[in-house]
Amino acid sequence: MNSNYERTEIEELGEFGLIDRLTKKFEIQNASTIVGVGDDAAVIDLGEKQTVISTDLLIEGVHFDLAYTPLKHLGYKTVVVNLSDIYAMNATPTQVLLGLAFSNRFSIEELEEFYEGVYAACKTYGIDLIGGDTTSSQKGFIISCTAIGEVSSDKFVQRSTAQKGDLLCVSGDLGGAFLGITLLEREKKIFLENPSVQPDLENEKYIVQRILKPEARKDIVEFFFTNNILPTSMIDVSDGLSSEILHICKQSNVGCVLYEEKIPVAEDTKQAAYKFNIDPTACALSGGEDYELLFTINQNDLEKIIVNEQISVIGYIADSQSDAYIYTKGGNKHPLTAQGWNAFK
Ligand code: ADP
Ligand code: MG
Repeated sequence: MNSNYERTEIEELGEFGLIDRLTKKFEIQNASTIVGVGDDAAVIDLGEKQTVISTDLLIEGVHFDLAYTPLKHLGYKTVVVNLSDIYAMNATPTQVLLGLAFSNRFSIEELEEFYEGVYAACKTYGIDLIGGDTTSSQKGFIISCTAIGEVSSDKFVQRSTAQKGDLLCVSGDLGGAFLGITLLEREKKIFLENPSVQPDLENEKYIVQRILKPEARKDIVEFFFTNNILPTSMIDVSDGLSSEILHICKQSNVGCVLYEEKIPVAEDTKQAAYKFNIDPTACALSGGEDYELLFTINQNDLEKIIVNEQISVIGYIADSQSDAYIYTKGGNKHPLTAQGWNAFK
């Protein structure tokens, strides 16, 4: 699990020494961060803007498996998935807090690897780590991450405000992360049965990267800002497209029509799906963890949107009486059902 040979026990440094070692490299990048790590609490000044806050809890064995997740990637992903929630409000993330619990199975070097990933994400997205908490657990690794962002009061976008006639759009492509985890789970099983067989993931880089090192769609929110586009509703795709569309429909009290042929799926994802004998559309609709943005726009904004190749128009919003439907490539009409990823199943 650890690529380092060194192993320093946590007890050698103690809690405060450890926090210091893990966070000393982080430099403040935002003017709004007045006091960061090191005091009883952080101080942030968001001025005239409104504050957006979101938190996530990640449990080893439920949300991630260290058998195939490098700690550096885990640190990166922990931050990114939280930022994705902030972007989904059409806001700009500025700070994160990180609570960790781990057993003495982990060494200082391993925790440093995790923080390398956290550091990389903070640099990439221009955000400050301003605090957290560090404690022990009897078993496994537990991570709690809270992200804070800012948005002008007239620009934040909720799930509940889609209107009949709006166009349904999604960024990037879908289904890749689900195939990535399917592949890693299969390789893990093969490895456990026969440890001499090393997995060959060379041709599957795209789907593996989609699950292990996702990115949040900062570029899309910036595109909205520079082109003066305000989506009428928005959500990030963490549980699968159909489940997210149904959230927008339910909370906005509308229906929708989705076209299978419009759903963006990368070529690498399609190839992997065929190898696993799974329908690529099913991966997009019901897989999870793609962290793309699903949003609706007024039809008048169509011309502003289509110039961006990272955005696909996949359907439209209908009135509340007509349910949520998908038209398949074969021309059949099916009700959309939520079979997204569920932590309790
Ligand atoms: P307290 O005892 O008041 O909870 P701590 O000793 O836990 O304070 O934390 C000291 C400082 O270090 C605080 O600024 C806290 O936010 C920060 N901190 C603690 N753990 C972490 C961590 N894992 N990552 C980043 N900052 C942390
Ligand atoms: Mg504390």
